[in-house]
Formats: sequence, C-alpha cells, structure tokens
Amino acid sequence: MHEVLPFRREPAPDTVIRVAGLTRAFPDVVAVDNVDLDIHRGRTLALLGPSGCGKTTLLRLLAGFETPDAGTVEIDGRPVAGGGAWVPPDQRRVGMVFQDYALFPHLDVTRNVAFGLPRKQRRRAGRNARVAGILELVGLSGLGHRFPHELSGGQQQRVALARALAPGPAVILLDEPFSNLDAGLRAQVRGDIQAILAQAGATAVFVTHDQEEALAVADEVAVMGDGRIVQLAAPEALYHAPADRAVAAFVGEADFVHGRSRAGVVDSDLGPLWLSEPLDGPVEVLVRPEDVHLAKDPAGLAQVVGREFYGHDQMLFVRLPGGRLARARLGPVTDLAPGDRCRVSVPRTLRAFPCPGSDQGVPQADPLRNALA
Ligand code: ADP
Ligand code: MG
Repeated sequence: MHEVLPFRREPAPDTVIRVAGLTRAFPDVVAVDNVDLDIHRGRTLALLGPSGCGKTTLLRLLAGFETPDAGTVEIDGRPVAGGGAWVPPDQRRVGMVFQDYALFPHLDVTRNVAFGLPRKQRRRAGRNARVAGILELVGLSGLGHRFPHELSGGQQQRVALARALAPGPAVILLDEPFSNLDAGLRAQVRGDIQAILAQAGATAVFVTHDQEEALAVADEVAVMGDGRIVQLAAPEALYHAPADRAVAAFVGEADFVHGRSRAGVVDSDLGPLWLSEPLDGPVEVLVRPEDVHLAKDPAGLAQVVGREFYGHDQMLFVRLPGGRLARARLGPVTDLAPGDRCRVSVPRTLRAFPCPGSDQGVPQADPLRNALA
C-alpha cells in the first residue's frame, strides 16, 4: 500500500557555498561584479566563460586567496568573507586544484598529498593511512615515492586532486583542470576525475572556457561574461534555452535568422520557423545546425555547396534560394553531396530573441562567409 502524504515537496537543495553581491575590482577592471551564486552539495558546477571574464578570480575569492571589495561568501552557513568576516584559506574546508597543479617539485607524491592535511595531522600515524587511501582513490597507489617530474601530466593532475581532497573539504575548486592535457588524454582524465569526485561524494566547482567540457561534466553551468553570471542552468536548458544571443552563440554552434514573427511563426528562407515562445514582431531566431533538415530533391530550390566531414557527424553548407548560406549537421552517412539540389526544413520549435528597433532585424556578419572562403 502506498503511503499517503498530505504534501510532497522536493527537498530544498542543500547549499554548501552561498555567494551574495560578491565583487572584486582591480585597478583596470572589475574582475568579479556583483555575483550571486549558490553551490549545492554533491553537485558539480562549471564556471564557463571566455578568457579574462573573471573565473579564476571568483574561485580565488571562494578559496580565500582574494578578499572581496563587496559582498559575502558563506560556507556551510558560516560567513568566511565580507560583512566583517574573514576565515583564512586553510580553515575554509575548501580544496583548490590550481591550473598549473602547483605541486612541490622537491617533495614526492606522498609528501605532496600529506601537505594537504591539517598541520596537526601531518605527523600522526593516521597520516600515512589517509594518504594511502586518497592515492588509491585517485588511482596512484604505489607511486607515492615518485617526484612530480617522474609523472605524466594526467598523473600530476591526480596528485593535485589528491592533495586537495586529503583534508576532506566541503567543496573542491578546480581551475581549468583539463587545459594542460593533450586532446587524447583529456577525455580520459575528465572521466576519471568525474568518477573520483563522485566516489568521494565531493561538491565541485570547475572553471573552463570550453563549452563542450562544461556541458559534458557539470550538473549546472554558470556562464560568465565581464565578471557577471549571465546565466545559470542545467546543460540541456543552457543549450536549448539560452538567456540571450551571446550565450546562444557561446554555447554550441548558432546561426541567427532574422524575420518577423506572426503568432509564433517566422517565414524565412529556411521555410517556416516555429518558435517555442509566442513572440510577435521582429525577432532573431536561433537555429542550430542540427535543427536543419535536408532532403535530396532534384527539383529543390537549395543546393549543397560544401561539406566538412568530422567522422561522427558532418556539416553540409547549403545555398538557399535567396542566396544566403545555411549549415546543416548530419550524421556520418548521407546521400547528399556538393552540387546536389535539396529541400530544406526546420522541423522543431526554436528559441528566438526579440529584435527591437528594426523590422528586418539588425544585419549581422554572416558567420558562414568564412567557411567557404
Ligand atoms: P579568467 O580566469 O576568466 O581568465 P581572471 O579572473 O584571471 O579571468 O581575470 C579577470 C580579469 O581580472 C582580467 O581582466 C585580468 O587581467 C584581471 N586580473 C586578474 N587578476 C589580477 C590581478 N592580480 N591584478 C590585476 N588584474 C587582475
Ligand atoms: Mg583563469
């Protein structure tokens, strides 16, 4: 028999770090500008944004390597910065993995990891067991006697992670953790680190400028621009419902079609575009290359004019009846080749942004012009 409850509510997510109005200005730039952010226990948050947008500064504010000019940071309900509070980095229960790993070159792996333990624990008998346990967790058992220069990049990164995890922090912060690894190693280390963090039950915040990485690894993604959080959302929501044109263009590949919406439909050179919101008036419609469908048809008004084959998928470039180029992402097998005529359609509902001040929308640089140059 089912238990009948008068109310069923999702439990409120447990907030580990709460950031409010956080600001850090340098002489030339406001690196972190009035940021509000909740970081939830057991989840992985990605800070995503272009170089210089303030990601590292935000991490350093959380860890206590920077002091805020305004705003507050709370960890597990305890104020650690701002509003008169200050708790130094080693007492915040926050572990940080630096972009360059910052291992001590003159210490072996065991002593690098032991350095992460609280001072009083460093000499105790429990120390060795703790280090051995952490090394096993990160898959480095048996390498405790090695020095950093005797390890691969991926192994060095695990040592940095082990050192950060050793004291059992409430949150682990990782600054561009995969950027120093070559492409082949990247995907593997990414999976390993994810598994390690999950096994440790860790709450993690990691910084990246790579949107694919953010979407693949994080439970939630905070997109940053000019020191602010522009959008905070789950990966799917970010991709399918970006808050604005800039986020749409930064996350995934985006083409924008300008037109006038009538009752949520825009007539365009791709055919009718159905909008996911009932906008009316001038809009720009976000069209992802995978939204565009092509059907081979000798009587079709569009023509395939180029192709890039990537293996797992491919991009076809199509000249539309009005002369504009569109791109369509297809699977690895297609009966279409450059020169073929085809019909174009966009069979799913699309995100659009109002485009005030112009009936035709603002003319935009055509991102495809270069593709065929
Ligand atoms: P990101 O990690 O996103 O690349 P950063 O947080 O490192 O960005 O930097 C944000 C901005 O703050 C940049 O314009 C950078 O030049 C500036 N900045 C960062 N650290 C300092 C500093 N210690 N002194 C002066 N400017 C800094
Ligand atoms: Mg940085």
